[in-house]
Order: sequence, then C-alpha cells, then structure tokens
Amino acid sequence: MQGIVRIRGQVQGVGFRPFVYRLAKELEIQGWVRNDSHGVEISVSGENRAVSDFLERLESESPALSRVDGIAFLEADCAESHSGFRIRESLEGAADTGISPDVSICRECLMELFDPSNRRYRHPFINCTHCGPRFTLLSRVPYDRKHTSMAKYRMCRACQAEYLDPCDRRFHAQPNACMDCGPRLSLLDWSGEIIAGDQIENALNAILSGKILAVKGIGGFHLVCDAKNGEAVKRLRHSKSRMEKPLALMAANSASLVPFAQVGEEERRLLESRERPIVLLGKRLEIEGIAPGLASFGAMLPYAPIHYLIFHEAAGRPEGTGWLEERQDLILVATSANPGGEPLATGNGEAFERLGEAADLFLLHDREILAGADDSVARWNGRSPQFVRRARGYAPSPLRLSSSGPAVLAMGAGYKNTVCATRGDEAFVSQHIGDLDNAAACCAMEKTVERLLQLSGIEPEIVVHDLHPDFHSTRFALQYSEKHGIPSLGVQHHHAHVASVLAENRFDGAALGVALDGVGLGTDGGTWGGELLCLDEKGGFSREGHFRTLLHPGGDIASREPWRMAAGALYSLGRHEEIARRYGKKGEFILALLERQFNCPLTSSAGRLFDAAAGLLGISDSMTFEGQAAMLLEAMAQGHGPVPPLENGFSVEQGVLDFLPLFDALAEMDDAGYGASLFHSTLVEGLESWILASPGNIRTIALSGGCFLNAILCSELRNRLESEGYAVLEARLLPPNDGGISLGQAHVAMRRKSCA
Ligand code: ZN
Ligand code: ZN
Ligand code: FE
Repeated sequence: MQGIVRIRGQVQGVGFRPFVYRLAKELEIQGWVRNDSHGVEISVSGENRAVSDFLERLESESPALSRVDGIAFLEADCAESHSGFRIRESLEGAADTGISPDVSICRECLMELFDPSNRRYRHPFINCTHCGPRFTLLSRVPYDRKHTSMAKYRMCRACQAEYLDPCDRRFHAQPNACMDCGPRLSLLDWSGEIIAGDQIENALNAILSGKILAVKGIGGFHLVCDAKNGEAVKRLRHSKSRMEKPLALMAANSASLVPFAQVGEEERRLLESRERPIVLLGKRLEIEGIAPGLASFGAMLPYAPIHYLIFHEAAGRPEGTGWLEERQDLILVATSANPGGEPLATGNGEAFERLGEAADLFLLHDREILAGADDSVARWNGRSPQFVRRARGYAPSPLRLSSSGPAVLAMGAGYKNTVCATRGDEAFVSQHIGDLDNAAACCAMEKTVERLLQLSGIEPEIVVHDLHPDFHSTRFALQYSEKHGIPSLGVQHHHAHVASVLAENRFDGAALGVALDGVGLGTDGGTWGGELLCLDEKGGFSREGHFRTLLHPGGDIASREPWRMAAGALYSLGRHEEIARRYGKKGEFILALLERQFNCPLTSSAGRLFDAAAGLLGISDSMTFEGQAAMLLEAMAQGHGPVPPLENGFSVEQGVLDFLPLFDALAEMDDAGYGASLFHSTLVEGLESWILASPGNIRTIALSGGCFLNAILCSELRNRLESEGYAVLEARLLPPNDGGISLGQAHVAMRRKSCA
C-alpha cells in the first residue's frame, strides 16, 4: 500500500519526526517524513498490514509533548520510488500548525545534568526534543533552529551529530547545545562588572548571604533571594515597591514544601507537571513576609536547568538525581521581575536598567528571549485545576472550540489583558500580558498581537473589544479595524466573562451566567460587576438580575480603599453618624461627599461587596494590590471555619440581590473571623436564591468573574446549584478573571457571525 499521511495538531518541535522515523524503520515502511505548514506530512509505502499498523501506532504512541488532532491517510501512487525512510527538509509556507509552549527540563536531561561523566554535566542550557524552551525563543514558524534565538550559535561536531541522528534524543532538538557551542552564563554585579569564578557557586553564596539576584530564566527574569532570610525578603519587597503582594516560592521538589504548605496529591501533580505553574498551597507554617495575612503560599518547582543547578549547588553537588527525592533546605523567593506592574523584564540591558535598584547581582545568559512569558499561577479547586494566570507552559497552546467559524481577533479587557485569535475551531489565547495602564504593557500587547497572528498565520476577519472606550485594547481594536478594513464588534464585559466559560466548555446553547468581578462597563453606561445574565445561542444576552448598587464614594479610589465602601454601606443603612465615629476626619469628609451625592457613583460590583464587608469588619482599610481585601476576608473565613448563613441577611426582588441587611449585622460584629465566615455563607445562600428566582427554565449555568477565585464561594455555590439540578460550567482552561475575557469576546463574535 502507498499513500500520503497528514497529521494535524501540536506535532512540530516535539520529536514527532524522529518518532515517525523509528516507527517506519521498525515496520519496514519506505518513504519520508517532513514538517509542513499544516503539521507533519508522511509518504509511506509498505505491506498493507504494516501500513495499517503504522497508522494506528502514529496516534497511540505519539511523543509526550505532541498532541494529535487529526490523521488523514490518502491512498495514492507515490511517483518517486522509495528506498528506505528519510527525514526531509521542512516545507516553508503559511503557518498552520500548533505552537508548542515551553516545558520544564525532562527526567533524562536531569540525569545527564547531574552525571559528572556526561559531557553536559552542569550545563545550564541542557535540553532535548522532550523538554526545554520553545515558544519564548521562536521568531516564526515552522519551528526550525534558524527561526529561533539559537540561530546565532553554531553547533559543535558532537552536538551536530546528535542533531542529525534520528535515533538520538536530540535529533532536531532546535535549542541543542553544549558547553562548547551554546549560550553562556555569566554573573555580573550591579555595575555590570563580571564576577570571576563558578557562576552557580557564586550565585548561591550571594543568595545565602542575603543578596538579591536577578536571574534570567525561560520567559523572563526573576528576582531571587533566600525565602527564610527575613531581611532579604524585606529588602526585595521594598525595592519592588510590592509591600504586601504575595511573593512566589521555589523549592527543589514537592517534599521540600511540605513543612510549610499543604501539598495534597492533586497539588503535587500540578507542581510536578511539565508546565510547572506556581501552585497556591494552603499554609502550614508561616514564612514571614512571603504572603502576609493570606491563607496560602504560591510555590513552584524549578523548570530551567539554571534553577536546578542552584539547588544542586546548595545540596553540595551530589551525583545523580537521588537528592531530588529528598527534602532540601533551600527555599527561594522567585518573583517575576516587573517593577510597578510593567511587563516582566526579558532583555539583559533592560534588566540592568529596570532592576538595577532591586538586584545586587545578575545571573544572565546570552540566549535571547523573544517573547516574555510570566509564570502561570494555578490552584486545585477541589475538582479541577483553576488558573489565576495562564502564561508560561500553557500559552499559546490552542483551545478547541465546539465549531469552526470566521477568524476573529479579540483584544480582551483593560486589566489582566490577554488577546485571542481564532482559526477554524481553534482559539489561540495569548499569555497573560498584564494591566494596560502603562506604556510598556500597551506596547507588549501590540507586540503580542503581531506575534500571535504571525505564528498562527491568522488573518482576522473581525476584531472584537470591550465596551470601555478608554482601554488601550479597545482603541487598538478600532484602529486595527480601520487599518485593515474589517468590522469591529464591542462585547459587554460580563457577557464576555460568561461566554468565555461557555467557549472553553464547548457549549453553544442558551445558558444562564453569573459574573462576579471588580467592575466592567454595562450596556447602560453603569459600572456592573454582580450580574445574572441569560445568553442565547446567537451571541446575544439579556440582564436578568444584578446586585443592589452600592455607593462608591470617591469613584476609582474606592476600589483601593475598602473603608470607603464600608462608609458607603453605612450611609445606605442610615447609620450616618457612625461614619465619622469610625473614620474620624476622613470619615467626615466622605460623609460630606455622600450627603451631596458628589463623586459617589453607584456600582453593582461583587468585588466591591467583598471590600465593603472587609471594611466593615475592620479586616482591611486600604489595599496595596487588587483583590487583597477579598483574599484577606477569605483567609479569615477559612481560619474561622463555616457558620450558618444570617437569617434574612439578604433580599431578592425583581432580580435585584440586596445584601444590606447582612452589612447591618457585620457593622455590629466584634469577631472578624466569624463575620468573614458569615459573609461567605450568606453570600452563597443569597446567590442561590437569586438564581433560583430567575424566570425561565434554562438549567445550564456558567460561573465566571474574578470572585470565583475565592475557594469557598466557588465550591459552595457549585455544590448547591448541582444539587438543585443545574449543569454548572466553570473556568478550567483559562482564568475566571479578566484573563479569560478575550476568548469570551471571540466566542460571541463567532456565534453572531455563524447565526447572521
Ligand atoms: Zn530533555
Ligand atoms: Zn555542542
Ligand atoms: Fe471582569
């Protein structure tokens, strides 16, 4: 039998061709294999039985990092007569294939890294076809060395031989290198002076003596210090002007985290997954200054060889990988190096410029990072992993949609921005870009769009944006629309939130949606954020209900200062005198604002509801990072344990869910832990009643919005709705927060187009 096999999916840069080669040799198939712009193409000729075995095993035995989306076999006479099997040059052309994300170093490479007799012993850039950087060093597809930042390094003979040997683990491993021919590591002081000696040894000594290091990893720089050195942690916080925001930890293995954190089976699996996200783990023992007041630490395991080498050094350079099974003492802070909310630093010069104040030393290399990618952040929500941030290790692996549609470019929201481009039934959601409130982030967004479209070969037919006219993403979408002569579409923020969950769950029917978040602009010009929506299958929606609007005294400032929300709630409760009594001079000032209704907009935001509760309970008066009050409130509730909901703590009337009665009780409460727990249980009960009271008989409901990162809210509400017979859809592949908005926008545009 003779013919052509075409394979679609994530099949480039993942060792697919050598796998095909070995399989063909084993089954005595003749022909060739090559990468083309659609994936992998194979010409086969052999015994009928062998060919059918070959086709079957192509799918069932495909390499770990690959993802096969489709195999098509077309029987045909192959004009060229084959003898043997070869791997041919890649075909250039329009890109139409999966782009592999970066993956952590594999087991085999680790074994070589710590084997003193191996030629790559302690080589900081060791990798193979099963591991290493991909997306962050790729400039264009197809994935070949000349299209990566490895292009400038000429492989030595030994590396070249591996690269050319189909039976070698490094066959066509594009970043293949060794000490002789690859990137170089260097350790510099803050003035740019090179520090002589063994870089890893010196770096470790610096860390142990309380220094702060800027370490260039896979997707960008980390600021690193000894997590158990309180002074160093304080200094790092100070220099980063990140006074209370949690810092991520890095440990040699899961076992090393166990003394400090609760590492369940699912958490361990997430930590050890090749994507290596930061995983949120319940605290067991406080490490001072790492995550003040919060219930969990964010921790990750090493993923680049450089990280492993630091832990290896700390362990005394043991031979082999046995030490990786044992608990290690060293725990590092490894926080992404991005001063003031800007995108993380990726270039060497940039690092000196931007991190000069923060870092004492710089552990650098000369391999360029072509696309920045933050560490992803995930947690186990009791049923599935849930993302807080999706970036390195995951992006830009496409998500599969329920059906094909036009090519859409969706620009996302203004905060926690991601962008999304669709091709057929695939949605490429970018890595987390950040808050578009600074020039650097806006610039990063534009670069990300360009790169995503280039790598995926997508030419958008429509561009989608948020309704907020001032978001850089919105302005960019409108310009893009005009420049390219394609239509634009504005999608309401919470509509997009809910649609995002429907899209990733491949649900196309009508559904209810609850969106609970900070704020988003409503279709009536109001600030929404506690919304019950009904989505139809044509990409439209109706607002079925919302939270009672709360006063937001001082407008935007109130989102940073929960005491203002508390004052607004007291005012609505008619407890005017209490405002001045609680808050003194600033209280009097706010009361004056409230009495004149001056700069006191109304909002139905659920996020502000959490803030008001935290303010009333005295848990948080002002925040240093977004969501802090809600996180502290959650931690207090978890610390206290569950309590039954407050009787008559809320009301539901004509779709309006009102928690003022609950606030009346919270304002009286001395026990903040009890109050925090009461807030959560009453909130869940109120939400359930509100949803059950909505008219119609739709029994599918999607939960979305940043508030669903609250573990209590997310699991309690899900359980109750399920026991009421609802099919509950949740965000699992993308974050429920604004990081998922771009996919939701794309989903709405595709529904509209396909129903037009
Ligand atoms: Zn490897
Ligand atoms: Zn070499
Ligand atoms: Fe939102």
